[in-house]
Amino acid sequence: LFHSVALAPRDPILGLNEAFAADTRPGKVNLGVGVYYDAEGRLPLMRAVREAERERLATPTAHGYLPIDGIAAYDAAVQQLLFGAEAAAVTERRVVTVQSLGGTGALKVGADFLHALDPSAKVAISTPSWANHRGIFENAGFEVIDYPYYDAASHAVDIDGLLAALDGFAPGTIVVLHACCHNPTGVDLDTAQWRQVVERMQARELVPFLDIAYQGFGDGIEPDAAAIRLFEASGLPMFVASSFSKSFSLYGERVGALSVVAASDDEARRVQSQLKRVVRTNYSNPPTYGAALVSHVLHTPALRAMWEDELGAMRERIRAMRRGLVARLAAHGATGDFGFIERQRGMFSYSGLDAAQVARLAEEFGIYAVSSGRICVAALNEGNLDTVAGAIAAVGR
Ligand code: PMP
Repeated sequence: LFHSVALAPRDPILGLNEAFAADTRPGKVNLGVGVYYDAEGRLPLMRAVREAERERLATPTAHGYLPIDGIAAYDAAVQQLLFGAEAAAVTERRVVTVQSLGGTGALKVGADFLHALDPSAKVAISTPSWANHRGIFENAGFEVIDYPYYDAASHAVDIDGLLAALDGFAPGTIVVLHACCHNPTGVDLDTAQWRQVVERMQARELVPFLDIAYQGFGDGIEPDAAAIRLFEASGLPMFVASSFSKSFSLYGERVGALSVVAASDDEARRVQSQLKRVVRTNYSNPPTYGAALVSHVLHTPALRAMWEDELGAMRERIRAMRRGLVARLAAHGATGDFGFIERQRGMFSYSGLDAAQVARLAEEFGIYAVSSGRICVAALNEGNLDTVAGAIAAVGR
């Protein structure tokens, strides 16, 4: 049966983790990760989450099935975070939200639903993008195309290239957009640029599929949702895949959601019935634990305030590490202006290092990064910042 099975390519980031683990040098640093570490270099267990767990344990419940679309209170909380409680789509019941297996699961449910609607539509992703975007949409049966996004020379969005690409897409093309904290570049559109994108997409009848995996890591919970709010206000039908993996540090609990905005309440109910069909025939219904914790935190004012504070501290720590890295690169006499690192948003930075420099960082200094030059700023701390800056400066000379 299996004689013709080919070996699938290894995930490049997992390979990097293995190389890091095998490195015996004491000062080694893994900047290749896609998670937030605290100032001590540990994965945080947030206080609001711990408190919700404690309260949950105090009243043990049996482990039944959830509804196919998950916990209703959780889905409602997701809608408020993404769109705002006052959004027309929310008050007019035009948004449907289904709990999903992380942001990845949300993308997959949305992709399967869209493919059933129009298998000939193309899906456009940014150059570069989170590597799994291509895989998820191709696996759902779509042809995936690219749109220009990052301009390496200016370390900014290639807005002209992006808008020109949108103008050239056929109506019905699904455009995957990072709502904030673009992975891997850290470079986001500003509000004026988002407005241009919304206008073009409306004019061309393109389908926005926003991916928001880092809400609260950029400028704050509300400002990070600005793109979602602009699309919602435009009246376009839209998809949003959201994740609490990072913002609640609940990676392994698989807590996300897919929200779809339709033109009417009636349309939304029909869409909901089809999303439930996709879920039912894939994994039947979602897991309880993580979503119950998130829902409890978001619906309990004291815990919600605690979570917002903790998330704010994570955001501020990332920003402080950005400032620190730029300052220490200068102190180490690094060639060039690294000020762009401070302008980037979220956990990641396209550092400008090329593959050869990244290889030297690993070989000579035990500092591991993705070959594209992506580094995880959230893996930096006061204990490793100076070593990392010194090493980057050295490979850049
Ligand atoms: N989208 C983007 C852009 C991401 O970076 C990630 C996480 N790396 C995800 C989606 C998926 O997150 P989750 O772990 O919740 O599936």
